[in-house]
Amino acid sequence: MPDNDPVKTMANGFRGDLIKPDDIGYDNARKLYNGMIDKRPRLIARCADVADVIAAVKFGRDNGTRIAIRCGGHNGPGLGSVDDGLVIDLSAMKGIRVDPAARTARVAAGCTQGDLDHATHAFGLATPAGIISTTGIAGLTLSGGHGYLSRKYGLTIDNLIEADVVLADGSFVTASKEANADLFWALRGGGGNFGVVTSFLFKLHPVSMVFAGPIAFDQRHARTIMQHYREFLPRAPEDLGIFLGLKKVLSSAPFPQEFWGKRICLLMCCYNGPEDAGKKALEPLLGALPDPWFNWMATMPYPAVQSMFDGLYPTGMQWYWRGDFVKALPDEAIDAHLAQAEATPSELSLMHLYPIDGAVQRVGRDETAWSCRDATWSMVIAGIDPDPQKAGPITRWTKAYWDKVHPYDLGGAYPNFMMDDEGDARLKATFGDNYARLANVKKKYDPANLFNVNQNIRPAP
Ligand SMILES: Cc1cc2nc3c(=O)[nH]c(=O)nc-3n(C[C@H](O)[C@H](O)[C@H](O)COP(=O)(O)OP(=O)(O)OC[C@H]3O[C@@H](n4cnc5c(N)ncnc54)[C@H](O)[C@@H]3O)c2cc1C
Repeated sequence: MPDNDPVKTMANGFRGDLIKPDDIGYDNARKLYNGMIDKRPRLIARCADVADVIAAVKFGRDNGTRIAIRCGGHNGPGLGSVDDGLVIDLSAMKGIRVDPAARTARVAAGCTQGDLDHATHAFGLATPAGIISTTGIAGLTLSGGHGYLSRKYGLTIDNLIEADVVLADGSFVTASKEANADLFWALRGGGGNFGVVTSFLFKLHPVSMVFAGPIAFDQRHARTIMQHYREFLPRAPEDLGIFLGLKKVLSSAPFPQEFWGKRICLLMCCYNGPEDAGKKALEPLLGALPDPWFNWMATMPYPAVQSMFDGLYPTGMQWYWRGDFVKALPDEAIDAHLAQAEATPSELSLMHLYPIDGAVQRVGRDETAWSCRDATWSMVIAGIDPDPQKAGPITRWTKAYWDKVHPYDLGGAYPNFMMDDEGDARLKATFGDNYARLANVKKKYDPANLFNVNQNIRPAP
């Protein structure tokens, strides 16, 4: 940005807010979910509508400004913002229209997962998405999106019907299987590389009341639990979403004081159906395990389980994370996990194994950009703490943990569980044979790599 004049020119026709460093709301507007990241953009264009997005893209392009695209601001390495550049902030673009007859939802790109769950729940419908309701639907969707419903209904991208996109040249297109099919293919897993998505059309499924909640065991039993969980998962009904965690009990309500700070093995469950059927689905697993310290499964509205962890993980904490796709969990891998979990540096730090089997695996490797269709889990190791002084220890623990378990995992990882220090090789391993095709789509739609503040796929030469 050479000076303020182009900003003034853009401001003439801009309906949203243009927020600059000397504006009162600047510090609040630039804040990201991960408190470890502190970026200072030159301009935040908080768009009100698609016309604003077009103006912002053209502004960034014409002024040679780096552009970050932001929805929920939850990205681990803070790729929803950029130092000294332009943030195209979509968070004010809300609005969801559910079509109950067609079982679809048209979702504006500033919505969070919670916005989507709220809107669709009124109709007894939902689409798969992640486990924290404040996550932005756009960043989550464009890199894949997995959650409790994925075993039955696939990734979030597997439920995407079409997307409206503002491209690098400022033009507007709709991408679907029928129109701009190459772009639609790339948007389903390739992240924010190809343009600014302004709205999504999702397929919905019958989901209303669920039998859900955490079951926590003494981590001394984790080896047995992980072995039984590994054997149980391929036979478990797909209506059961069940992820496994190694973590600690927080020293605060609502947890019973006797367990505060203790290491646990967690089974976090969400059965899409009535309690008796949910109990029956879990019986082969729970019947083989020792008694848990607590089992808080109960019947609840789906949005309640989707927001169950929100209070534990508020905005502004320190986060450093690493992921991997995991196909199998041999005993040696379990032992490696347990050795690292013993050294967990804070009460919030964790390892989660999210199932991506079932419906996720029934989509072909080359049908969408997300190519890893044979993994059983998407793993995340996350060092988390409210205290900035702990940034070093939680980062070191995460890296050390990952180093020990990575040899048992597949080469790539869910891009939404990557920081920005893992290098191109990791992205190439993640996308496999799809990488070259992604680079070609990038060349067609963003040849100058205008959208490069992301897990960047460079245009093919
Ligand atoms: C506590 C927590 C729990 C999580 N749990 C899950 C989970 O259960 N399942 C899961 O799948 N993921 C999960 N995630 C990961 C989450 O999907 C990513 O952090 C994701 O990047 C967040 O999206 P956002 O829109 O909030 O991010 P932002 O920081 O706003 O954006 C991140 C990136 O997305 C792209 N982007 C955003 N909006 C657009 C747009 N409109 N057009 C084009 N590109 C865009 C840009 O490249 C941007 O750099 C979790 C994250 C957190 C912090």
